[in-house]
Amino acid sequence: MKEDLKTQYAAMGISEEVYAYGERVESALKERFMAIDEVAEYNQLKVLAAMQAHQVSEACLLGTSGYGYNDLGRDTLEQVYASVFHTQDALVRPQITCGTHALALALLSNLRPGDELLSPVGKPYDTLEEVIGIRPSKGSLQEYGISYRQVDLLPDGGFDYDNIKMAINEKTKLVTIQRSKGYQTRPTLSVARIGELIAFIKGIKPDIICMVDNCYGEFVEKLEPSDVGADMVVGSLIKNPGGGLAPIGGYIAGTKECVENAAYRLTSPGLGKEVGASLGILNDFYQGLFLAPTVTAGALKGAIFAANIYENLGFAVVPDGQESRHDIIQAVTFGTPEGVIAFCQGIQAAAPVDAHVTPEPWDMPGYDSQVIMAAGAFVSGSSIELSADGPIKPPYAVYFQGGLTWQHAKFGILKSLQALVDKGIVSKKFP
Ligand SMILES: *Cc1c(COP(=O)(O)O)cnc(C)c1O
Repeated sequence: MKEDLKTQYAAMGISEEVYAYGERVESALKERFMAIDEVAEYNQLKVLAAMQAHQVSEACLLGTSGYGYNDLGRDTLEQVYASVFHTQDALVRPQITCGTHALALALLSNLRPGDELLSPVGKPYDTLEEVIGIRPSKGSLQEYGISYRQVDLLPDGGFDYDNIKMAINEKTKLVTIQRSKGYQTRPTLSVARIGELIAFIKGIKPDIICMVDNCYGEFVEKLEPSDVGADMVVGSLIKNPGGGLAPIGGYIAGTKECVENAAYRLTSPGLGKEVGASLGILNDFYQGLFLAPTVTAGALKGAIFAANIYENLGFAVVPDGQESRHDIIQAVTFGTPEGVIAFCQGIQAAAPVDAHVTPEPWDMPGYDSQVIMAAGAFVSGSSIELSADGPIKPPYAVYFQGGLTWQHAKFGILKSLQALVDKGIVSKKFP
């Protein structure tokens, strides 16, 4: 049987040595993969229970046009999200164009001139710098008179509680906590650690709104940040919760007040959640959410496989091969632009769409260096699909994520390794 597989991989450009090395790495990961499947099973039931509790019906899968008044499917889906995240309400819309938009919406709608925003976990995701005004930008929070403070993580990745306490003042209205490391090499925060941080902050000033940038974290654990005190969790539907099927969209799940503020900002004061036609998109949103726990599990296996493949070859990987996981991102540091480029070109060559094109570094809007991106995706830019991004700047690390199926993630990683071997960046002598 394995001979068949080897032949099939060979036909797809994977050498015998690379295939055999992959098999050795995979066989050592059996127990971890079982634990991931258990989390997926738990979350599958959580999603199903929410859908059943809100009586999702065939009529919910249809859409509205025009103003979108009384959109049963949209309103029910928002209740389903609220149940999954155990929040009072949720806003789940195709009119939220991406993750950055969802985060900007949550911030701009819940902060007022004179308020202060605090990040107690260091520099936020690159695109948020312009939302906040860390890099001056039209329409930023800074332009609206909303100030910003940041407390970095300690060198060991811990929270700097002393400085967080000092940073909180009478103006501090909202705290933003980014769960995933994004384009950094700091550790991703577990839900338990987020809970500790929120408890500390609320202990100092109970009415602070705690928002979590939940991008890439959904369904990785049994609990979500909203289960441990977050007032708002925010994310993109072309990442985990869209399950690969949502072609656009973002969500904000949280307290009634936070979600209401966001809805009035997304549409208009006075209109809020009442408008916003769902067009024909709801079937994909529902079915994507239904698939999200298992899709996330496949992506997680891919990340762990990649960590072990590259760690054993001597590259720095974050998280490392053994660490527990709190998001689906895997960073691998190659130390050279050539390594980053070869890796991304290998991922691209494994894609179901556009495998024949060769990605190159380019000046991507919102980022402060050139970025190379590999994404042969059904949904453009989707990063729950097998994809890799590498900013072309030191330490020359690649951020790899996604894979709608574990089998595809595995193939992509082997293809990336093959590209590095073919370019002479990695030697053929595998451990
Ligand atoms: C992807 C991501 C964002 C931004 O989402 P886009 O959809 O790319 O705009 C924000 N924060 C984190 C942690 C992310 O991973």
